[in-house]
Amino acid sequence: MSNAPSLSHGRKRVQLTGQPSELMTNRPALAASWAAQVITLFPEAFPGVLGASLTGKALKDGLWSLEAIDLRAFGETRHRNVDDTPFGGGAGMVLRPDVMAKAIVTAKRMAPGPMPLVYLSPRGKPFTQADARRFAAGPGMTLICGRFEGLDERVIEAFGIEEVSLGDFVLTGGEIAAQALIDATVRLIPRVLGNQASLEEESFSTGLLEHPQYTKPADWDGRRVPDILLSGHHGKIADWRQDMAERLTKERRPDLWRAYCAQHDRDPMDDQELSAQPQNAGPTRADKG
Ligand code: SAH
Repeated sequence: MSNAPSLSHGRKRVQLTGQPSELMTNRPALAASWAAQVITLFPEAFPGVLGASLTGKALKDGLWSLEAIDLRAFGETRHRNVDDTPFGGGAGMVLRPDVMAKAIVTAKRMAPGPMPLVYLSPRGKPFTQADARRFAAGPGMTLICGRFEGLDERVIEAFGIEEVSLGDFVLTGGEIAAQALIDATVRLIPRVLGNQASLEEESFSTGLLEHPQYTKPADWDGRRVPDILLSGHHGKIADWRQDMAERLTKERRPDLWRAYCAQHDRDPMDDQELSAQPQNAGPTRADKG
């Protein structure tokens, strides 16, 4: 194998110095599509779950593209070292800034244009649906997956890298976080979801958590679907779903509920506007007991 950095594109792996593969992003059809680049020590982890279902089909159809850039290929010495011990002492290893910088410069060179540079990090701003919308509206993004104790601070400063967290917990590496972030973003790209209308009502798009969903059978093990959903009365069904969405949000996510009330000029403490308990089903307090 040559020393040229190895890159993977979707399931396909190419050498940087090789002939442009038919899947490379300089193909006009792909240049126009949303581009994800991922700098990682584990390129074999991609596309991973992104290769399945709707995101996988969209990847094959060229609605978006994926390049996994192997950080190891930029490592120092013949051992391709990418990490070293932390200055000041302490446990673990830190990813070297010089090695990461080379990977970032290569990613920039291969990108279809300027793209946001994001480091997955538990110290980052928590990822939200608004971030997914912002990233989906752009040309794509370059994601950096950390490992060990993380990334040398200077490379974050030098490239103005945005730090994004998946939540208040610590993963062993950024790869799962990167896939979650790409999944949430790619599904917002037009034509990726079969049914674009399903985006309009789902959790967070309205500022509320989504109402409960039910399907057949209407009676499962003695648990009946709420009668209203079988009534065929679309107005009443819409009211019920709105009530349930509000109830769930108020109960589970007071932070979202307060923001929603502020936006809609409502008193977050006022219960009047929420109608009575749903008739015979739904994840209400009584059901949980
Ligand atoms: N020592 C670091 C944790 C390093 S975990 C700290 O305490 O902040 C190793 C790598 O996993 C990180 O560099 C990051 O890329 C990834 N990671 C861990 N938790 C994450 C989270 N909640 N969100 C996004 N990435 C995370």
